[in-house]
Amino acid sequence: SVVTRFAPSPTGYLHIGGARTALYSWLHAKASGGRFVLRIEDTDRERSTDEAVQAILDAMAWLNLTHDGEIYYQTARFDRYAEVIETLLAEGKAYRCYSSTEEVEAMREAARAKGEKPKYDGTWRPMPGKTLPEPPAGVDPVIRFATPLDGDTVIHDLVKGDITISNTELDDLVIARGDGTPTYNFCVVVDDMDMGITHVIRGDDHVNNTPRQINILKALVGDDGELPVYAHVPMILGADGKRLSKRHGAVGVMRYREEGYLPEALLNYLVRLGWAHGDQEIFSLEEMIAHFDITHVQSGASTFDPDKLLWVNQEHMKAADPAVLADELVWHLSRLGIEATDKSALADIARVQQGRCKTMLEMAQQSLFLFTEVTEYDAKAVKKHMKAGSPALLAQIRDRLATLVDWQDEPISAAVKAVAEDNEVGMGKVAQPIRIAVTGTAVSPSIDGTLRLLGREATLARLDAAVA
Ligand code: GLU
Repeated sequence: SVVTRFAPSPTGYLHIGGARTALYSWLHAKASGGRFVLRIEDTDRERSTDEAVQAILDAMAWLNLTHDGEIYYQTARFDRYAEVIETLLAEGKAYRCYSSTEEVEAMREAARAKGEKPKYDGTWRPMPGKTLPEPPAGVDPVIRFATPLDGDTVIHDLVKGDITISNTELDDLVIARGDGTPTYNFCVVVDDMDMGITHVIRGDDHVNNTPRQINILKALVGDDGELPVYAHVPMILGADGKRLSKRHGAVGVMRYREEGYLPEALLNYLVRLGWAHGDQEIFSLEEMIAHFDITHVQSGASTFDPDKLLWVNQEHMKAADPAVLADELVWHLSRLGIEATDKSALADIARVQQGRCKTMLEMAQQSLFLFTEVTEYDAKAVKKHMKAGSPALLAQIRDRLATLVDWQDEPISAAVKAVAEDNEVGMGKVAQPIRIAVTGTAVSPSIDGTLRLLGREATLARLDAAVA
């Protein structure tokens, strides 16, 4: 059965491109009832940090891209890599190379001078009938993989189609350094083999590594052994046609959380970036799983469009279960200094706000009035909406609301309407002063929703304070 993996290097946050690769890999596993493995490629100890590992795990958790089984860390697998290297050496599929860095550079230079691809010249590669030089004393050899000397390596890429590379173009790759530590391409191969990966779905910046990895894999599993299927996903570009980077604004997934995007909306936006299912734009997670097909991912780069992301977010906010929105609202309120815990009250707020806010951050900001006193009134709003007659209207509204038995939308709305009618003024003449009185601004949900959420006591107190 299908096993896919996401294999980030923990050298920074999880960016938009990585998240889409992870999503495609996750969807492919889910769509086929398979497993999704998470592997942290932390062998580059200089550049990997614990903070980056945590940031990636947090982002994956927020996106709900759950992995199956344990999380693998390459640094915990050095014994296994060493074992496989010993096997390859014993089978003559890898060899010790004592050439110095300078010597290898000179070989490369010589190849370049002849107009050939720069390559290690095979000095230490054992060959039938060849006598190897005497190993120099005091030199720790690197281990090189003995790449096939002829033939082609073909990648049957699910996104890019067949890619054929002549093995003569490939170097005898270093698989272990002088100090014995395994190199990146080698670890990936051993991992993909040990973890039973059936589909390697990754960014197309790795396409050059693939023929090398396939050759090593073949040496390990044999020519008849099972190889994974590859799918190289194209890059995401900014509107200027350049690779998406910090210049284009937020690139870390968690920045999108901070800006108020919903995880499903971000996933929905990302799944459509490079893949389509008819002209459908809005997908629930279930629909993504049902329809996603890796072979339909487009082979060219896609362009990131922040406006569309915002639109997709709004659509998801409108359709979401308020109880789900409540969880995200708690997080945003907390960042604004409010520790809210009453889940049913929060779901109630989300229900009132979900159709009118573009982001969860906006929802949190526009719900602050429910948790904090009004300490000042927006001057522009006051100038525009508070007229000479407004305090008298507010006083009448206050008195009517005070008599309500049932603090629900309908009676609240009826009370406000009745005051407008008694005074022969439009609803705007009463609604805006009420908003200013209870929120300090002229922007809030419908009056009944606003007052109901605020509660009777706070509403009356704020109306009193505004006319005082
Ligand atoms: N660790 C690699 C990266 O973060 C991914 C390698 C792979 O998927 O094979 O770019």
